[in-house]
Amino acid sequence: MSKEKDDNYWRDRLTPQEFDVCRLAGTERPFSGEYWNCFEDGIYRCRCCGEPLFSSDSKFDAGCGWPSFDAEASPGVVAERPDNSHGMQRTEILCASCGCHLGHVFPDGPTETGLRYCVNSLSVKLDQAAGPDDHKDPAEE
Ligand SMILES: [Zn+2]
Repeated sequence: MSKEKDDNYWRDRLTPQEFDVCRLAGTERPFSGEYWNCFEDGIYRCRCCGEPLFSSDSKFDAGCGWPSFDAEASPGVVAERPDNSHGMQRTEILCASCGCHLGHVFPDGPTETGLRYCVNSLSVKLDQAAGPDDHKDPAEE
């Protein structure tokens, strides 16, 4: 995982709330985000770098107040690392491209993958122009 951009770079490009969650691994309050109750079709992209991370096809209602997915959009786009903060053993999930904090993944998902990717709305942005099966970037900038 590369993390070439420093905090000042992101501070200029994100709102203070986005910066806190994406770059400082904060957590938005449950039921406060933009997407926990959103079931529109599209691709959820990294808020920081635009990488496609999750498809609306894999989104389900976990009732936890955060957007939840049972799979990443394509293998390897979501990175994982152990998080033992707050006295818990959890697995943090990050954008593999830019290191943006996304949330945590839990092994208690109700679907056949058995996984529950619990994601902050502030870490992603829904791209409704992209079909749920379109996992590729339309154009590199
Ligand atoms: Zn990213």
